[in-house]
Amino acid sequence: MVPLEPSDSEIAALVDQCGARVRAFLAAVGALPAVDLDGADALAAALREEPLPETGRALAPTLDRVVAALGPGFHTSGPGYLAFVPGGGLPTAALADWLALTWNRFGGVRAAAPPAVALEEAVLRGLAREMGLPATARGALTSGGSISNLTALVAARERLGEGFADGVIYFSAETHRCVPKAARIAGFPARALRPLPVDARFRLDVDALADAVRLDRAHGRVPLAVVANAGTTNTGAVDPLPAIADLCAREGLWLHVDGAYGGCFALCDEGRAALAGMERADSLTLDPHKGLFLPYGTGCLLVRDPASLRRAHASDAAYLRDVSGEADFTDLGPELSREVRGLRLWLPFQLHGLGAFRAALAEKLVLARRFHEGVRALPGVQVIDAPQLSTVAFHLGDDAATERLLARVNARRRVFLSSSVIGGRVAIRVCVLSFRTHAETIDAALEDVAAGLG
Ligand SMILES: *Cc1c(COP(=O)(O)O)cnc(C)c1O
Repeated sequence: MVPLEPSDSEIAALVDQCGARVRAFLAAVGALPAVDLDGADALAAALREEPLPETGRALAPTLDRVVAALGPGFHTSGPGYLAFVPGGGLPTAALADWLALTWNRFGGVRAAAPPAVALEEAVLRGLAREMGLPATARGALTSGGSISNLTALVAARERLGEGFADGVIYFSAETHRCVPKAARIAGFPARALRPLPVDARFRLDVDALADAVRLDRAHGRVPLAVVANAGTTNTGAVDPLPAIADLCAREGLWLHVDGAYGGCFALCDEGRAALAGMERADSLTLDPHKGLFLPYGTGCLLVRDPASLRRAHASDAAYLRDVSGEADFTDLGPELSREVRGLRLWLPFQLHGLGAFRAALAEKLVLARRFHEGVRALPGVQVIDAPQLSTVAFHLGDDAATERLLARVNARRRVFLSSSVIGGRVAIRVCVLSFRTHAETIDAALEDVAAGLG
C-alpha cells in the first residue's frame, strides 16, 4: 500500500521499480512480435469487470499487472509497426512528462508558470520556423491532429461570423475523415462540405477546386476554406500546395494544411522540397506523435495570424482576472486547464538535437523507396504510386487475394501492416515513420510479402 504522500524511500522504490520495468521493456522493444493479441480479450474482460480496490495494494505485483496489461496488442512502439500511421514513443518524451506532471505546473496561462509555459512557446516557435511560417506565427500543442484540425476550422469559421453556415469547405476525397467530422462538430451543415476529385497520384485536382469555387459563388454560397493535404493517410499524397495557395490568395479563402502525417518531413531537405508551398498556410496541423516520434497525445496547430485563434477562442471570465494575459494558450484553443505540454518536445529536442530528427526523417523517405523498389519487383504485385513521402500502397488486383496476403504477412508477426480502400480497391499500406524502423525491418517486410505470395 502506498500513501498519497509517499516518503522519500517510498518514492525511491516507486522510481526504481517503474524504472526496472521500463528498462526491461526497452531492452526487448526491438525483438517483440509486431502484433500479439494472444489472450488479450480475456485479460481485457477481467480488467474491465474488476472492481476498484478500497485499500491500496502492494507495489511490485501491481506494477507487474500494469506490464501485463500494456503488453498485448499492436506493438505500436516497435520497429515492425508499419500500419496506419506509426508513431514511435521516444523514452525522453515520457521522462519529460514524468517531470512536468510531478511539478504539475499549470500550463494554460503564462502567469501561472512563465518559464515552464515558455518552453512550449519555444517549441512552437521552433516548429513554425522549420515549417517556413513567418516569425509572428503562433499556435498551441493539442492532443492530436483531429483536435488541431477542429481548432483550425473554428478559427476559419470566425471569418464569416454568425453566417458561417453558408460557408463552403473544400478538400480532396482522400482527406482524413477527421476533417469532415471536425466541420460537423464546428457546426457546419452537410451542405458546407465539398469533397473533390483527385488526380492519378491522389492529389487534389486544382481545376476541379477552381470550378467548384466558381459554381458555389454563382449559387450564392460563400467559399470559405480549403483543407489541403501535406501527406494523405492512404498514400502519402501531397496536394499541389503552391497552386492551391495561389487559388486561395486569389479567391480570399482560408488555407488550412493538414500535415498530421507528413508535415514534419519539412525538417529534412528532401521533405521540405516535397512540401513546398506548405509555408503559405493560414493554419497548419502537425502531429508530433507521428512525425516527431512522440508518444500518443501530442498534436500541434500553427497559425499565421494568432489573432485568428484568439478571435475564435478568447473569453473573459471573472475568476481568471488575476492571471489572464496576452497570448495565453487558453485563448488559442478550447482548453483551459492543461499540463505543461511543451516539455514533451523541448526535452527530446534538447537531448537529441534537431539534427537527429532530420536524419531519422530523411531515413524514413529512403526506407519507403527501398520498400517500393523491392515490392514492385514481386510477381503479381501492383504498386499504386511511387512514394511521395514514406507510404507505399500495393495490391494484387483481386481484393480477396490482397486480404489473404495481408493476413499471411501479419501472421508472421515480424511486421504489422494495415489495409485501406484506394481507388475502389483493397490495398495494403506500408507507412514507415517509427524512429526504430531501419533497413532490416523493411527487408523483413519484403521477405514476408514474398513468402505470403508464394
Ligand atoms: C492521423 C491523421 C489525422 C488525425 O490525427 P490524430 O492525431 O489521430 O487525431 C489527421 N489527418 C491526417 C492526414 C492523419 O494522418
